[in-house]
Amino acid sequence: MIHDTTIAAPATGGGLSAIAVIRVSGPDAFTIVDKCFKGKSRKKLSDHAANTIHFGEIVARDTSIDEVLVSVFKGPKSFTGEDTLEISCHGSVYIQQQILTVLYASGAVPAKPGEFTQRAFLNGKMDLSQAEAVADLIASENKASHELAFKQLRGGYSDQIKQLREQLMNFAALIELELDFSGEDVEFADRSMLKALVDHTLIVINKLRESFALGNALKNGIAVTIAGRPNAGKSTLLNALLNEERAIVSHLPGTTRDTVEDTLVIDGICFRFIDTAGLRDTKDEIETIGIERSYAKIKEAEIVLYLFDTLEMFQSEVENDIELLKDKTGSTKLIIPVGNKTDQLHKTPQEQFKELNDVSWISAKENKGIEELKERLHKYVNIGFTSKDETIVTNARHADALGRAASNLVTVKQGLTSQITSDFLAIDIRAAIYALSEITGQVTSDDLLAVIFGKFCIGK
Ligand code: GDP
Repeated sequence: MIHDTTIAAPATGGGLSAIAVIRVSGPDAFTIVDKCFKGKSRKKLSDHAANTIHFGEIVARDTSIDEVLVSVFKGPKSFTGEDTLEISCHGSVYIQQQILTVLYASGAVPAKPGEFTQRAFLNGKMDLSQAEAVADLIASENKASHELAFKQLRGGYSDQIKQLREQLMNFAALIELELDFSGEDVEFADRSMLKALVDHTLIVINKLRESFALGNALKNGIAVTIAGRPNAGKSTLLNALLNEERAIVSHLPGTTRDTVEDTLVIDGICFRFIDTAGLRDTKDEIETIGIERSYAKIKEAEIVLYLFDTLEMFQSEVENDIELLKDKTGSTKLIIPVGNKTDQLHKTPQEQFKELNDVSWISAKENKGIEELKERLHKYVNIGFTSKDETIVTNARHADALGRAASNLVTVKQGLTSQITSDFLAIDIRAAIYALSEITGQVTSDDLLAVIFGKFCIGK
């Protein structure tokens, strides 16, 4: 056991609820709770078997505070790895405060944010990436973010990282052994095998790094901008997508001067829709700022819905606009052309815009083609996600550590090519190992732990 204090805190939310759970964990958990718990069976909690539940009362100075159920967990077989008791009381905030007061008076100390999970990590119940997944799981609001967090909680890519790390450690050890024999010209670590390992490790790491763009988007919502000329119907489309009057709809071109943002969950995947000011040449100063902001938003987005008015636009103009968008945003991001106001067209849109491919035809005003457009968005993301059973990195800290590991391994590779001496090679391999170890928490600093667990809620 690393900790000598026993911590206590409510594990359930602060508001009014039917029941609340107060957690107590640490070496004196049984002594502290036994002081104030009067069980129906008159036995002490410490005399009960692990993983059992007991009815009784919490009593302070001979006054009963509440009737409760206490769940008994004995370390190391508990979430924290320590002796833990969970008191289920009635949900009144007053009752919870009274029980906590008794526990603190009996020797418990208030738990810091995330301290239960931090103890679980420090007692070896889970690695750091799994502890972080606990926070993600609590915060998950939809199917995709839930699935990603749950996968990580179950181990995710931890095993993969640990395996790579171990293989690199073996090489580092052999190379360091060579240093002891530096006078003699010996090579314990086979350089061609080391190069193969470094190549393989780089492939795995770079794949994980690439998955972060999608992972991050899935966790925080896929950003979709609606771009197009003024009056194309961007605000009307946003309203149709969100099913509400969110953006300002007007007959005057250029009224959506700032950006509007809202989220929509389509079949378990969260999208962040961003309506932007119309794209056109203008002398109006405020509108120019709006347009500049639009391009910035478009650059940030994963998907761009390029909306055009089928009543006003020629095919060549649409093509030019799409080219301009590609130029301005300078990337290969997905641009979905969407033709609006088809309700007023005399011909079918396919006839009028013969050469345009892959257009979603809609009437934002009459809500036509909106479901199909949502399906198209969902399908695009889903192809990169659930269909492949691939590991996806969602955590920015992990992505950063993977980046550092990769650049250290590139240095190792260069060192192998230029045949640098064993001591320098060992330093570069150790640096890569260090970065990988940060992900799973084999090396940590107090500062890092404070940052990670400080974001948790109290009681977790
Ligand atoms: P924005 O400037 O691109 O945001 O365009 P708005 O959403 O403000 O719409 C401009 C005008 O086009 C409004 O008068 C809308 O009612 C109209 N409009 C939008 N969508 C449609 C549509 O599908 N059909 C028709 N007939 N009019 C539409």
